[in-house]
Amino acid sequence: MREIDNVFITHFHSDHLTGIPDLWLTGWLPPPFGKRTTPLRVYGPAGLKNILEGMRQAFEPNIQIRIVDERLPESGVQFDVKEFSADGVVFNEQGLTVTAFAVDHGEHIKPAYGYRIDYAGRSVVISGDTRFDENLIEMARGSDLLIHEVAAARQELINFDERIQLILNHHTAPEEAGIVFSRASPKLAAYTHFVLLNGPGAPEVTLEELVKRTRENYSGPLQLGEDLMGFEIGETVQIHKILSLKFSGEMG
Ligand SMILES: [Zn+2]
Ligand SMILES: [Zn+2]
Repeated sequence: MREIDNVFITHFHSDHLTGIPDLWLTGWLPPPFGKRTTPLRVYGPAGLKNILEGMRQAFEPNIQIRIVDERLPESGVQFDVKEFSADGVVFNEQGLTVTAFAVDHGEHIKPAYGYRIDYAGRSVVISGDTRFDENLIEMARGSDLLIHEVAAARQELINFDERIQLILNHHTAPEEAGIVFSRASPKLAAYTHFVLLNGPGAPEVTLEELVKRTRENYSGPLQLGEDLMGFEIGETVQIHKILSLKFSGEMG
């Protein structure tokens, strides 16, 4: 985990934040988990610094115990927070740039950003959580890989509980994502962040149905994302279904 030294946050919904303490603190532990000795850099919209200070406070007893007991370096448990409050390049190192762009996740869900990563003529665009968004299409046009969120529920469920439609309104339906993919025309489109709602008498929309609904508007390459899936971008975009979990060999 220490090999992850830059983290990019899209927005402040809990499902996009609750993984931070584990990455941050477990990555600081002795091998095989981490052994980070330098601050973890975290990029995100204004307000992030406050959130991370709160996390630091929540884990302060743990941090002090480990510094005294395991002699872990204080430097490895610090955050180096890089906030931004407008669209633009937020990271630029060794020829790799990351550009943040605002997306539309709903009236009350601000700030919300997506990211575009450019390196050596290749590009990856990550939608973040968003509704159908013209700005995202512009940013993703001609990219190598577009990683996009998606949400769906059966009509019975939408009829049964009005809150379901409220949730869906914050996200992109598969038919809409199909339009985004068609217009942006990436070499590969990949789904992540599957919001597939269910309830009494209304099972989740299946992945097969999700693809079928996407195909109403898009016939290009489409991949369903999975945990630990990797993408290698060269002339073509290769998919690695299982990233090998490398342990350093040292045991803590
Ligand atoms: Zn969200
Ligand atoms: Zn989310």
